[in-house]
Order: sequence, then C-alpha cells, then structure tokens
Amino acid sequence: MASPKGKVFVLTGPSGVGKGTIVERLFKKVNNIYLSVSATTREKREGEKEGINYFFKSKEEFKKMVDDNEFLEWAEFAGDFYGTPKFYVNNYLSCGKDVLLEIELQGAKQIKQKCPDAILIFLAPPTFEALEERLIKRQTESVEKVKVRLKKAKEEMKEIKLFHYLVINDKLDEAVENVISIILSERCRIKQETQN
Ligand code: ADP
Ligand code: 5GP
Repeated sequence: MASPKGKVFVLTGPSGVGKGTIVERLFKKVNNIYLSVSATTREKREGEKEGINYFFKSKEEFKKMVDDNEFLEWAEFAGDFYGTPKFYVNNYLSCGKDVLLEIELQGAKQIKQKCPDAILIFLAPPTFEALEERLIKRQTESVEKVKVRLKKAKEEMKEIKLFHYLVINDKLDEAVENVISIILSERCRIKQETQN
C-alpha cells in the first residue's frame, strides 16, 4: 500500500496563550509530526535561533519571498510579517509526515481555503486577564506591543467558530494532553468529512 500523505494541523490562538509552550511539550510525546518553521520580519528574541524558531528576514527579503510565491500563507501581525514557507511543508507531507503550523488567525483562514483537509485547533486562555498576565510575565514585548497583541486577541477570540477544535489552556498539562488527543484521534479517522 502506498504511504498516505501526511496531515496538516494548525494551532492558532492569541499571542501569549501558550501555543509555543504546548508545541514544545507535545513534540516530546508525539512521533512523526514536524513543526513548520515560519519566516518573520520581527526582531529575534533573546534565545531564539535562526532556522529553529524562525527564519528571520528583512522586510525586503520577505516581500521577495511573497513575490516569488514561496509561502503557503502569510499575514501581517502586530506590525510584522509572518509566513509559512511551502517548501518544507510539502516535503514533509509528501513523505507521509504530519506537519503542525503554529500560526495566527488570518493565516489559519488561508490554510482552511488552500488545504480543506487541514485540522484547525484554536487554543484559548481561561480568561482575558490570564492572557494579559502571561504576556506581561513573558517580558518579550514592550508595554505598547503587549497592548497591540491584547487588542488582536479580542478580535481573534470572535472567530473560534471557524475551527474544528477548541482547547482551553488553563492547566497546562491538561491542555497538552487535549491537543495530543486531537492529533492521535485525527490520525485514526477513516472518513474525511467535508469540514468547511
Ligand atoms: P504563545 O506561543 O501562544 O505566544 P507562549 O507559549 O510563549 O505563548 O506562552 C506565554 C507565557 O505563558 C509563557 O511565559 C508560558 O510559560 C506561559 N504559560 C503557558 N501556558 C500556561 C498555563 N497553562 N498557565 C500559566 N502560564 C502559562
Ligand atoms: P510571535 O511574534 O509571538 O512569535 O508570533 C506572533 C503571532 O504570529 C503568533 O500568533 C504566531 O502564531 C503567529 N505566526 C507565527 N508564524 C506564523 C506564520 O508563518 N504565519 C502566520 N500567519 N502567523 C504566524
């Protein structure tokens, strides 16, 4: 039997909700799934590595990638550009490997259009106050940028209905287990319903 194509999983949720934290933990527990490394124009945070966390690009470089049709999706978020390079995703999928995209809402919408079989998971905070606290505690953005991200979060939370699954990241361990359960269940699915 020919090996089946891999599946695309999309994890979306407001900045600071815990996407990165959950992804890091789930990759230690689930085999045969790969994280798509995005390109971005935002500044590298302390500890971030080129090609591991992101491919860091100038605005000109990013624009050239857009013009050369190198992205599966891309979006502007809080003043910077972010995009999923097609190359790696397609390579993984064609080898039967699953790919996880950790991306924001506009990108998730584009994936829903282009990859109708993609499984879309929305990660939400237990409360808006908890989200604010996490963003402030993370200390990666200025007070102004935290404000922009919180405003974005309110808009994003209105679009949960576009997603197939909702996971609330209240207790971290439970949220990780829920995301893992979704991935494992989707791998066992026989029939791909029309999900849109
Ligand atoms: P995102 O990738 O969605 O922007 P992060 O993974 O960077 O978010 O998490 C933002 C901050 O919240 C981090 O400091 C992380 O340690 C913390 N965090 C993540 N999940 C939880 C949780 N369930 N409870 C409390 N803090 C959390
Ligand atoms: P951060 O600057 O905190 O790393 O990311 C900001 C937001 O951009 C997060 O919501 C993150 O999921 C999203 N993001 C990261 N990579 C991509 C991408 O390739 N495409 C899109 N659309 N969003 C992305």
